[in-house]
Amino acid sequence: MQRKLNFFAGPSVLPLEVLQQLKDGILEYNGQGLSIIEASHRSGVFDGMYHECIALMRELLGISDEYSVYFLGGGATLQFAMVPMNFLRPDTAADYIKSGAWANKAASDAEKIGRVRYYYDGSADRYTTLPNPADVQASDDSSYLFLCSNETIGGIQWKEFPDTGTVPLIADMSSDFFSRPLPIDQFSMVYAGVQKNLGPAGATVIIMKKSLLDKQNPNLPAYLDYSLHDKDGGLYNTPPVFSIWAVKLVLEWIKKNGGAEGMEKRAALKSGLLYNVIDSSSFFYSPVDPVYRSTMNVVFRLPTEELEAAFLEETKKAGMLGLKGHRSVGGLRASIYNALPVEDVKQLADLMKEFERKNG
Ligand SMILES: *Cc1c(COP(=O)(O)O)cnc(C)c1O
Repeated sequence: MQRKLNFFAGPSVLPLEVLQQLKDGILEYNGQGLSIIEASHRSGVFDGMYHECIALMRELLGISDEYSVYFLGGGATLQFAMVPMNFLRPDTAADYIKSGAWANKAASDAEKIGRVRYYYDGSADRYTTLPNPADVQASDDSSYLFLCSNETIGGIQWKEFPDTGTVPLIADMSSDFFSRPLPIDQFSMVYAGVQKNLGPAGATVIIMKKSLLDKQNPNLPAYLDYSLHDKDGGLYNTPPVFSIWAVKLVLEWIKKNGGAEGMEKRAALKSGLLYNVIDSSSFFYSPVDPVYRSTMNVVFRLPTEELEAAFLEETKKAGMLGLKGHRSVGGLRASIYNALPVEDVKQLADLMKEFERKNG
């Protein structure tokens, strides 16, 4: 098989060696006479793998015992609702930072549950920049302040995070989780759908400071109630077994490749290759504030939509997938998650230069 160069925004590229391990392991897991996806989630076969996966995540991100770590189903989208259902209490409000498509979806779910204040709304700038984290102040009476660390569609990324004092900071990190070290102490909760940077779709990582549960709505249907998941270490009900197994293998791959620090270097190298082409071009351009441009989703444009269509044709001929910008914003986008080889990004950078030489 000739593997494509995979620039899809999600689900997205996985390390080839992890795919091989999944292929080999799907028939029989560790010589135990069955596949792990056939084993009860209450069995030793699953339990050993599960705890290794959680322990590895804690180790690689330096997460202390003050925090719970587990997986839920329902995608990051379910968290848009669960966060306010659990923590947006009557007589309080929550602060949201409207930074683009994903934060706005989270905010619109929160509006259905309670009172939402917008600390910042980037709509006037078409979501191409972010507030300075040093200026961000949560209101004292806020239940929490919410932000999205990396807007997958707009291609903007927080480089540092605001200090919200006693107000809990909650973040959706779906598209840049494990692309850099995590300053976990600044957060009360972080969640991330795994299908961008960590595995196949089906699981969402939840990292939650246990003390956040003190202020939780006590009267929720079981699955929506974080405290039940917390009490059972994420095994209140059947977890997404296959995804978790794949995440464990990806975490082992991350560890071998320098951990979160290694991923940060890799992301800087790969995004640098593309931003260098864009910055030294009078043809390709980026609509995004250079201070906040994403190391995971590189959004760029050409002078006309015709040229963008022609460029996309060239990328397809070169075996590259997923470079069309999201339908809501148009243009072009290269998602260059952890597992994408540096070589693939070099090939894209070369193709961009060649396209400019011929058409610029
Ligand atoms: C992809 C994405 C989501 C949605 O994830 P689902 O698993 O499809 O629900 C939410 N937030 C961000 C930042 C994303 O990139």
